[in-house]
Amino acid sequence: MIYNEFCGKRVSRLGMGNMRLPTTAERGPIDREAARKMILDAYAAGVNYFDTAFRYHNGESEPLVGEVLSELPRDSFYLATKLPGHMMNYKDGKLGFQGYLAGETIGSISEIFESQLQRCRVDYFDFYLMHNVCDSSFGFYTNGELGVVPYLLEQKRLGRIRHLGFSTHARKDTLEKFLDLFPAGTFEFVQMQLNYLDWRLQDAKGAYELLTSRGIPVIVMEPCRGGSLAKLDEEDEAAMKALRPDDSIASWAFRFVASLENVKVCLSGMTKPEQLADNVKTFSAPSPLSPEEAAVLDAVIAKKLTLVPCTGCSYCTEGCPQSLNIPKLISMYNEASNGGGAALSFMLQAMGPDELPSACIGCGSCMSICPQGIAIPDIMTKFADILSKR
Ligand code: SF4
Ligand code: SF4
Repeated sequence: MIYNEFCGKRVSRLGMGNMRLPTTAERGPIDREAARKMILDAYAAGVNYFDTAFRYHNGESEPLVGEVLSELPRDSFYLATKLPGHMMNYKDGKLGFQGYLAGETIGSISEIFESQLQRCRVDYFDFYLMHNVCDSSFGFYTNGELGVVPYLLEQKRLGRIRHLGFSTHARKDTLEKFLDLFPAGTFEFVQMQLNYLDWRLQDAKGAYELLTSRGIPVIVMEPCRGGSLAKLDEEDEAAMKALRPDDSIASWAFRFVASLENVKVCLSGMTKPEQLADNVKTFSAPSPLSPEEAAVLDAVIAKKLTLVPCTGCSYCTEGCPQSLNIPKLISMYNEASNGGGAALSFMLQAMGPDELPSACIGCGSCMSICPQGIAIPDIMTKFADILSKR
């Protein structure tokens, strides 16, 4: 395992994300035994950075991760979790939840933070993040009356947060505006979505360079874009296999990220044991991309730049009044936009009218929650139009 010096700690370059743990059914509860084994196997392989969040797996991730890690020496791992401010609002002096947590009551930021310590069975977090700083959560996190950042800095002063940062899907401009509101050094790290496709598609390059220029280390999430860079078309996969026959397609995505000097931890949300084994192999020794390999990735990017950049996070689905499987539909739309094929036809045949994009009523409640800023109702309209002509 490769290790980095990060915030004065020796941290594994591969970190375990805990938002895609094995489940007993699609979108079902966590498969506790399989997840437990995955976490302990990762630890045994040298992974010492574990990332979770209040909302992952509908709130099941924090308690499960905390339970498993509580069996290990506290100083042998680093635990990161997040305040769900992107799912919250503050009106008339009252805190509330929105999105799929709407209706849940909460009295204070402190109540959430204290509950997280309990759920994770720790008395401090090594890394604590404000979840998803973006245009829609900007006002919440910067509200002077609410005082999220001062509260978290106080917890840091008390030793209950060792290092404070935030995760973001924001573009460079929003990121810069946010950082400018706080003294340098307030945030010791930033977790951002970065992979070889978003480097250009979402200008992750601009955000990465901004953070690097300000001396803020980067933790990467979605290095494989929710698994979408683990499987490419036949031509692209053949070009990769010709150069590295023994390596997985996913390993190319991880190697791209790992080659960036200011990336300290590369998170992978692993669901299957073979993904863990493959990642451990990739992170066993540095292996930067050669110019020839970089050219292969450039060709893959050029082809994909026309696709809708959905990461499959499913944040949008809980609030859909039509219960549409939005990421699945977007994935199908991308396929349809690129000619479609037998697989797409089979999927469509298996779906009822209430599952198709034509069932979208254009309410827009999915859009405000999408970290990628995807105009989902427009995509549903376009996809419905494509299907009506098939
Ligand atoms: S706009 Fe369509 S896809 Fe989005 S929440 Fe409304 S019905 Fe669902
Ligand atoms: S449309 Fe947006 S919120 Fe929904 S799954 Fe895709 S990236 Fe996530």
